[in-house]
Amino acid sequence: MNRPRLLDAVVRRRALLKTLAMAAGSAALLPVSGPRAAEPAHLNVKDPAAVALGYVEDASHVDVKKYPAYAKGSTCENCSQLQGTAGAAYRPCELFPGKVVSARGWCSGWAAEL
Ligand code: SF4
Repeated sequence: MNRPRLLDAVVRRRALLKTLAMAAGSAALLPVSGPRAAEPAHLNVKDPAAVALGYVEDASHVDVKKYPAYAKGSTCENCSQLQGTAGAAYRPCELFPGKVVSARGWCSGWAAEL
């Protein structure tokens, strides 16, 4: 290989290595994503706060003897304490900060939407 061709090959190789290094660096900056990456933990029905308010994941399992004020059809989905995006299966609740509750759930803190 003559000198100009060798120099040209070295320059191209360096350019390729530089491009690969920049691509690897860019990939490292990409956010880690996934369906549950940022979602808070689901409220556990055995959590002391959940037990205190009779939280259930499915409103059809409400103990109506213990909670006679329960009105059939009331769920987290139609409670004024529920926050977050409508239609999501689990959403934040004002009564259980840092956790998400089932939209189909219920607790004795239920309050009608105005
Ligand atoms: Fe569900 Fe309302 Fe109880 Fe929160 S306060 S857990 S949204 S029923």
